[in-house]
Amino acid sequence: MNIELLKKHLQKNVEETTTEFQKREDIVCRFEKPMMAYINAEDELFDAFFARGLNDHPKKIYRPGKCIILHYTPYAEEIVTRNEAAKEPTEEWVRAYMESLWLAMELNRTIVRTLQSQGRLTSYLNNMMEWDQKTCRGSWSHSLTAAIGGLGKIGPAGSLIVNGRYGGRAGGIITDGLYAEPPKEPLQGEPEEVVREILRAWEKPGCSPEMIACCPAGAISEEGIDKFRCQKYCLKLNEHIPSSDVCGKCFKYGI
Ligand code: SF4
Repeated sequence: MNIELLKKHLQKNVEETTTEFQKREDIVCRFEKPMMAYINAEDELFDAFFARGLNDHPKKIYRPGKCIILHYTPYAEEIVTRNEAAKEPTEEWVRAYMESLWLAMELNRTIVRTLQSQGRLTSYLNNMMEWDQKTCRGSWSHSLTAAIGGLGKIGPAGSLIVNGRYGGRAGGIITDGLYAEPPKEPLQGEPEEVVREILRAWEKPGCSPEMIACCPAGAISEEGIDKFRCQKYCLKLNEHIPSSDVCGKCFKYGI
């Protein structure tokens, strides 16, 4: 199968998996059509993040890997709107955080199956349940990878902003297939500058009085975001993966 055909096939399979997933009786949230990106596993930005201990290098995870196939599934817009209108994260938002994780794992399996049918070598990138409370993150970040691949940008507390919206789930796998495409919106500047700019957007964005007031954890001040306070609050919402994504109240200030 040629590469363009294979990519169409992958997109179709991923969309079908998303539709089938939402028919399950235990799934209550709604999701939009997943987007996909084909990212060069040898992009020099991976070296820059790895050197600072911010993200594992794809080659550390899977040495024959040449391309990361990333998917991003937005939550239905009303889930985001209702969460924004509430003072604290809604039950629905917290539920979407978990259901989207299960969906991302299903999508990974679908992609791996499709590639294996073409004789490609593949590997999962991480255990999606992994979290380190000392660093307040996992060892692999799909959001940073999405930013490297030009799929989205990093916003407050490590949020991922895609097409001017937040609220969604990224996941992906790595393969030896030579499928990488140049990023549609490449990050500009030397790797050092790019890393600095991403960390600024993540930890020290300009915090307005409204943004400071919106945080139910009191984790935001004019100096930036206290990731430990943020994590302590998020632990109450999800004791296993206390990522800021389970709260998301400050994410709109990154748009
Ligand atoms: S607790 Fe919520 S609002 Fe506060 S920094 Fe974390 S994600 Fe943002």
